[in-house]
Amino acid sequence: MARVRLEHVTKRYEDITAVDDVSLDIEDGEFLCLVGPSGCGKSTTMETVAGLTKPSDGTIYIGEHEVTNLAPKDRGVAMVFQNIALFPHMNVFENISFGLRLRTYDDEEIERRVTQATDIVQLEGMLERMPDELSGGQRQRVAIARAIVRNPGVFLMDEPLANLDAKLRVHMRTELQRLHRELQTTVIYVTHDQAEAMTMADRIAVLDAGKLQQVDPPLICYNKPDNLFVAGFIGSPSMNFVEGEVVENGLKTPNFLVEFDPTRVPDVSVGQAVTLGIRPEDVHLAEFTESVTQPTDSIPARTDVIEPMGDEVFVYLLLSEAVEGGMERDPASSPDQLLMSVTSDTEITDDQPIDVVFDGTKVHLFDTETGTALTHGITELGGTDDGATMTEADG
Ligand code: ADP
Repeated sequence: MARVRLEHVTKRYEDITAVDDVSLDIEDGEFLCLVGPSGCGKSTTMETVAGLTKPSDGTIYIGEHEVTNLAPKDRGVAMVFQNIALFPHMNVFENISFGLRLRTYDDEEIERRVTQATDIVQLEGMLERMPDELSGGQRQRVAIARAIVRNPGVFLMDEPLANLDAKLRVHMRTELQRLHRELQTTVIYVTHDQAEAMTMADRIAVLDAGKLQQVDPPLICYNKPDNLFVAGFIGSPSMNFVEGEVVENGLKTPNFLVEFDPTRVPDVSVGQAVTLGIRPEDVHLAEFTESVTQPTDSIPARTDVIEPMGDEVFVYLLLSEAVEGGMERDPASSPDQLLMSVTSDTEITDDQPIDVVFDGTKVHLFDTETGTALTHGITELGGTDDGATMTEADG
């Protein structure tokens, strides 16, 4: 077990800054997910911890020791990658124990460690099998067991589940959480899949273009995203964004006005470009407002496409009569579109006029220019009726 610290780590490749001044303090025993879109620098960040990549600037500590210039084998880390490279001519036992043999452990110790590791990943009885006799999930468990036998202070996992089918991936997520609970080892886990990060991590570190955007527990990233990028990246389907302008009594957008007192939001002034964010599950049918503690006033909309997902239904809404034809599947792309998520027992059909409200406690405001979050929840900000309301914009 070990604490891992990155201090101002930067990695430049000729004209690309893959990792840009990243500082992270990962606690002993913590499960930290590095998450972000492809190419944002997740793998490179992890490789600097593994010792596979030398940072251009910055310092890395594992436990009490600075390791910035140490070889990978001297860092007390074990890695599991997306592409599981098992030796095809070796059976499970030989694959798992290979690294230990290189380190000249005696037979008894090797046997003990392999047995313990295969117990943990539930591969008992499969030690004689060859890799081509294993399923994808079993092969990944061999790779994990191979990391466990090394008894590392830190596990580094780079998209270890990416090549597995959807069902197995969900199953392996649970297994990895159990593994973490049993071993209590520090884990740094790279994934582009925000759902994977949300379900497994103690904390999520969100990266974009090499820069750290937010480091917080999953629900904080979800409920209080620091900026537009995190708000849009965490959560599926994505948060709706509607651009508007601050007026004296709130935020005016092309189709509605959200009322609050702008003087009560720090760093907000009249005329400022501000983006409203609302998650699909925080948009409600006005007729069911009892279920929402502090709804805004209703705005008229028209249902476009309905997508039943099982326990919930995605309803694509058009806010403006002016919109003709169908909408694109990206509600963030237009101020006239909004995605609402309702339970499957809600009676709703396509091309139907409806009134919707927002849960005012879940309305997020962001500075459009910088992307920085200004407030999460507007009900305390003194709109009319002692709460924020939303009305149709005049004209
Ligand atoms: P992620 O893991 O988030 O997909 P990476 O860390 O692999 O992202 O890459 C971050 C950026 O650095 C990308 O733009 C990638 O093309 C670039 N990059 C990564 N490795 C190298 C390399 N060896 N040489 C040049 N550019 C690289």
